[in-house]
Amino acid sequence: MEMDTVSVRCCIAGGGPAGMMLGLLLARAGIEVLVLEKHADFLRDFRGDTIHPSTLEVMHELGLLEALLKLPHQKAPRINAQFGELALTVADFTYLKARCRFIAFMPQWDFLNLLADRAARYPTFQLRMNAEVTGLMEEAGRVVGLQVATPDGPFAVRAGLIVGADGRHSVVRARADLQVEEFGVPMDVLWFRLSRRSDDPEDPVGRFDIGRIFIMLSRGDYWQCGFVIPKGSDAQIREQGLASFRHSLAELAPFVADRVGELGDWEAIKLLSVQVDRLRQWYRPGLLCIGDAAHAMSPVGGVGINLAIQDAIAASNLLAASLREDCLRVEDLQRVQQRRDLPTRMTQRLQLFLQNRVITRVLHGGGSLVPPLFIRRLARFPFLRGILARIIGIGFRPEHVNTASVWTDQEAGREG
Ligand SMILES: Cc1cc2nc3c(=O)[nH]c(=O)nc-3n(C[C@H](O)[C@H](O)[C@H](O)COP(=O)(O)OP(=O)(O)OC[C@H]3O[C@@H](n4cnc5c(N)ncnc54)[C@H](O)[C@@H]3O)c2cc1C
Repeated sequence: MEMDTVSVRCCIAGGGPAGMMLGLLLARAGIEVLVLEKHADFLRDFRGDTIHPSTLEVMHELGLLEALLKLPHQKAPRINAQFGELALTVADFTYLKARCRFIAFMPQWDFLNLLADRAARYPTFQLRMNAEVTGLMEEAGRVVGLQVATPDGPFAVRAGLIVGADGRHSVVRARADLQVEEFGVPMDVLWFRLSRRSDDPEDPVGRFDIGRIFIMLSRGDYWQCGFVIPKGSDAQIREQGLASFRHSLAELAPFVADRVGELGDWEAIKLLSVQVDRLRQWYRPGLLCIGDAAHAMSPVGGVGINLAIQDAIAASNLLAASLREDCLRVEDLQRVQQRRDLPTRMTQRLQLFLQNRVITRVLHGGGSLVPPLFIRRLARFPFLRGILARIIGIGFRPEHVNTASVWTDQEAGREG
């Protein structure tokens, strides 16, 4: 039996930050775009929660900043860390020359729902949830479409450009046989929630002690917690028992000692496997990968979402005109990689440096916890915190939206 086939100018696999932002930008530029997301909604527990100053700037350029900041969020003007007895500010965003000098902590589903809502106001935008990309269609060495599974049965999409924005375990990049360069990672993360009280600290908290790192991100009435463990040690930690795990948390963050009992069983604690990798080539004729599908990011610095969004902006800026004219060449796709390769490499290099110099040392160190020299320098020289804030908050080579909207944003707003 023939499969149903739909045709669009651009089809994006994956409705994460990269896919939704690119979908919005292309629709805004008058290009017919279809985003396919395998889940039924954006409401998954594991989504990074950080909206960085550079993304806030982009939201301003799109006329969406006000709407975004109306959603419940916490502003973090600084990132603080505690190394054993030493408490210090690692990044201070108040130094930035930016419209928003803070990181907005917001559940990512709220951010993605806003992008989906605004994109849906453009007539050229379509989003299909519950649509899982399972394979690619190729003709004469060119990717020309996708196979999609849905609860109502499979269908196919033909498009002038397929974008793989389907994250760290990208099906698109695997099916396209793009070569991946992998970098070693010393850690995994246990992910869970604890309730939050009104007299708890406001800012995100990172506590480093021998063999343990505990990160807490405020989501209003609860803490989203990440407990960093040596890679592959999950089974051993579970074997030691829940009581021992709860005890570790209470030791690291005494103000939650009265709440660790909320973790009633291991079901409440999910293992997130961390990986860092990068495609050697992000494209093939008819296909481009962006975001984690092109370069899986470590959670270090919480910059992955930012980078994914920057890729989407660069892709839209560089491809919109040729997509609209239906004259996309492989050289155009190459230009996207050329533009984003350097910032990606530099960010990953920094993440790997921090992983090796700080995280490995904390997780595998014995005796007393002595913070590395550059961390001690951060405590002494405030301008260094400004530099780190710039790298984390703005990133290398920030992108700006320069794709004109063919249908003005005011018109799009009125339609909705
Ligand atoms: C433990 C951990 C914590 C992190 N915390 C942060 C943080 O706080 N801040 C930060 O900036 N970064 C963080 N990161 C990194 C961040 O999660 C990623 O860099 C970022 O999500 C990449 O965005 P993306 O849109 O490329 O991919 P994703 O966010 O992974 O989105 C991909 C989307 O594609 C969908 N999808 C997957 N396969 C298919 C398919 N076959 N068909 C259709 N849809 C599909 C998925 O459901 C998903 O919605 C963290 C990473 C880890 C591992």
